[in-house]
Amino acid sequence: MTASTPASPFPSIADRFAAVRGHVVQAAVEAGRDPASIVLTAVSKTQGEAALQAALDAGQRVFGENRVQEAYAHWVDRRAAFPDLELRLIGPLQTNKATEAVALFDVIETLDREKLAAALAAAMKKTGRRPQVLIQVNTGAEPQKAGVLPDQADGLIASARDAYGLTVEGLMCIPPADAPPEPHFALLAEIAARNGLRVLSMGMSGDYQAAIRLGATHVRVGSALFGERRTP
Ligand SMILES: *Cc1c(COP(=O)(O)O)cnc(C)c1O
Repeated sequence: MTASTPASPFPSIADRFAAVRGHVVQAAVEAGRDPASIVLTAVSKTQGEAALQAALDAGQRVFGENRVQEAYAHWVDRRAAFPDLELRLIGPLQTNKATEAVALFDVIETLDREKLAAALAAAMKKTGRRPQVLIQVNTGAEPQKAGVLPDQADGLIASARDAYGLTVEGLMCIPPADAPPEPHFALLAEIAARNGLRVLSMGMSGDYQAAIRLGATHVRVGSALFGERRTP
């Protein structure tokens, strides 16, 4: 028998994908949920070419980006080679970038105001593309954070659908960094349930298992898959 290779102290991206996928399945099973009902969104912001390629090699196809420009740089040339890519915008969107966002992304997770709903509707008309839309809810009512306030979410959901004709599939949140996330996940699930929305994008590297227990359909994981980001 030959000695086995010692485990590297620096796990590869392939190792990290395998580990996170395992944890997603485990959290789903523990919650009595079908693991196949949970989508792992790999957050590829700030990553270099080698990391993107390693993720694709690991079979990953669903990616989240928080800036429109960077998402173009990362993905526009890869679309032809990977027709099953799914690109999700998870960062704040300015109305003057709505057309570029609609032209690239399959899902826009960060609708949080009427003015942006109007800009997205106009961009969809112009481009002929109809990405799905999630509404970002500022569950912690943090002044510096994007997202509609929880008590205004029902109104924005209704107007996005009825006044602007958007396909609102669900909700997204980023809980406060310094508090337990569970009450925020539960609040998001409650708002979704009373509005008949199916998709819940919640949970990041530090708390995706908790989010799955509380009903997440999409978890957005960056550093647990790629290692710590070089830029803040
Ligand atoms: C960066 C980012 C993530 C991923 O964060 P990690 O802690 O690295 O997993 C998830 N969601 C949003 C909106 C982000 O901007």
